[in-house]
Amino acid sequence: MEIVLLYGGQSAEHEVSILTAQSIIRHINYEKYQVTPVYITHEGKWFCGAPITAAPQEDIRLDFDGTRATHSEEVNPSQVLCEGKIAFPALHGPNGEDGKIQGLFESLHIPYIGAGVLASAVGMDKIISKHLFQEAQIPQVPFTPLTIFDWKQERAKTLTRIEGKIVYPMFVKPANLGSSVGINRAENQEELIAAIEEAFRYDRRVLVEQGVDAREVEVAVLGNDKVETSVPGEILKSQKFYDYKEKYINNTVQLGIPADLPGEITDKIREYAKKAYLAIDSSGLTRVDFFVTYNNDIYINEVNTMPGFTQWSMYPLLWEATGKPYDQLLEELITLALERYETYR
Ligand code: ATP
Ligand code: MG
Ligand code: MG
Ligand code: MG
Repeated sequence: MEIVLLYGGQSAEHEVSILTAQSIIRHINYEKYQVTPVYITHEGKWFCGAPITAAPQEDIRLDFDGTRATHSEEVNPSQVLCEGKIAFPALHGPNGEDGKIQGLFESLHIPYIGAGVLASAVGMDKIISKHLFQEAQIPQVPFTPLTIFDWKQERAKTLTRIEGKIVYPMFVKPANLGSSVGINRAENQEELIAAIEEAFRYDRRVLVEQGVDAREVEVAVLGNDKVETSVPGEILKSQKFYDYKEKYINNTVQLGIPADLPGEITDKIREYAKKAYLAIDSSGLTRVDFFVTYNNDIYINEVNTMPGFTQWSMYPLLWEATGKPYDQLLEELITLALERYETYR
């Protein structure tokens, strides 16, 4: 079978996606599959490379920089996404993880790895997903959504509403994004206004939430109707805010796997992770992120339906620690994609 591996993409997580694709290419079972790499440029153009039929000895250059590279040509989605193929959107953030490309696969009747259209869309939207978590009775910090309309028409009233519900420090986030892009911490009203203005550069809907002083713990979830959770892992940060620079530039983050937590807290976190997965109707995979305070209070933060997937990323490492090595995990994700396709088409 042929796996069409889509990577790069129109988001701030373009570079991470290239690393994810390199790890996948190294670990696919070439006795069963061959990989057609499709690079999506920042502008959204698709470039198709030559099929890969054996694990390369070293990482091959996968970023064509949007120019014509050897063995690659610009293609239309329908040229590469045709019958008998499986799509693997190794794409993070808007335009890859938010249901749009999943909708394209559905329209073209192609099985694909990862969450479906609805789960991808609601998982990417921090406001809608919080409403679903509330409904599922998963604890979370107080939050207030606002639209650009509220902000432009009724700024004073909106500030009063926020400050009536949440105390400083607050975190301000665009509703739809990832990699901490557009997210800021605010300690007073002046910073709050600046943070809101900045978040509105990325989205017309913004979320203000209560800041917490807490550890950051993540759980990997896998499955379609039958759902499995991994041991939790912790992000051991050198500073409080796990921002874009910490994630991808400074590389000062270490992972604590499994997270050092009492057994009953671990169980609770895994139970909430499963509830969150079901609440967004996910399938395939999702990483569920939590805050755990120093008194062991647990709050869900957010979900990522296509989390970082390099060999050094939290999601695969959590499965490795739970007894599923990277190769096996890939195989299971492909099986889950085919199973969903066969069952629901
Ligand atoms: P990802 O790359 O995981 O998709 P994201 O852009 O979706 O990230 P969040 O995970 O919501 O954004 O927030 C990014 C980081 O900001 C968190 O990992 C955490 O360090 C910090 N943060 C976010 N919300 C809060 C909060 N309410 N209190 C304290 N810290 C927070
Ligand atoms: Mg996220
Ligand atoms: Mg993300
Ligand atoms: Mg996060």
